[in-house]
Amino acid sequence: MEKKNIDWENLGFGYAQTDMRYVSNYKNGAWDEGTLTSDSNVVINECAGVLQYAQTCFEGLKAYTTEDGRIVCFRPDLNAERMEATAQRLEMPVFPKDRFVDAVVKTVEANEAYVPPYGSGATLYIRPYMFGSSSVIGVKPAEEYQFRIFCTPVGPYFKGGVKPLTIRVSDFDRAAPHGTGHIKAGLNYAMSLHAIVDAHDQGFDENMYLDAATRTRVEETGGANFLFVTKDGKVVTPKSESILPSITRRSLMTVAKDYLGLEVEEREVFFEEVKDFTECGLCGTAAVISPVGKINDHGREICFPSGMNEMGPVTKKLYETLTGIQMGRIEAPEGWIKVIK
Ligand SMILES: *Cc1c(COP(=O)(O)O)cnc(C)c1O
Repeated sequence: MEKKNIDWENLGFGYAQTDMRYVSNYKNGAWDEGTLTSDSNVVINECAGVLQYAQTCFEGLKAYTTEDGRIVCFRPDLNAERMEATAQRLEMPVFPKDRFVDAVVKTVEANEAYVPPYGSGATLYIRPYMFGSSSVIGVKPAEEYQFRIFCTPVGPYFKGGVKPLTIRVSDFDRAAPHGTGHIKAGLNYAMSLHAIVDAHDQGFDENMYLDAATRTRVEETGGANFLFVTKDGKVVTPKSESILPSITRRSLMTVAKDYLGLEVEEREVFFEEVKDFTECGLCGTAAVISPVGKINDHGREICFPSGMNEMGPVTKKLYETLTGIQMGRIEAPEGWIKVIK
């Protein structure tokens, strides 16, 4: 297979159209058999449920080339399960888990020429999504839906080295108690755009959201979960019903416990304790872990000892072990690596 002539190392994180995408339509209570298509446009009615009442959700995962030249992706079964939970909360039909994984495989296979080579740091980002496609004017769930997967090659996240982030405590809320914070719905992002644009305008990389009810507990950022390290080397992650369950974070907690022999804790984390942690990182598919160097709480700064130039030692070990597992340099736990080719 001849790869596309792409400058992999210098790719950014943007959409670049590839050759093929997957589409399946839901109508009269059933999904059709699904197909690959070269058509990158979606044609829907002006009154489609997604356009009027934002009935849409998505997933994100990556395919990449391992050290021994296989093309794989990481735990797609968990993306399928999460999308199932999301669909149920949004009154959308579930796209079955085995079909989801199969569709990911088919989409990557059909775009093999866009899977970046091992060592480039680039990956093929895969975006499954679903939306209400039939017309809805009185508020109710749509009757017809489209499930699609496209993929796009993206560059190395830490291009030019790791740069720890500066984040601020947000005055906006991300998710209500008993709301939709725990599902991957587009609406959670629509309402966070103002907060992130404002954070960037003020010179911050990200928002730290606290729980909306009491503003005392740490939740997450707009698109990544927190990991903290205590002075005695324990790895702590916030527990809350309104946090999106990051697959990366869950995997890192397993790595911390089973590969690095660290103590791990998923529990409520009060903002007041944050100053006592020695390391802080953001977990998500895009970066795996981005170190946080500094948190600004309305002018009061919390600076982590790892500083603004590098990852802290525990964050670094976690990062290297999980990326080693993903790239096939370290043996993976059973079922974590889905071999595509
Ligand atoms: C997708 C997402 C994450 C990261 O999840 P991963 O499965 O690790 O990519 C974290 N927080 C939010 C709000 C998200 O939407």
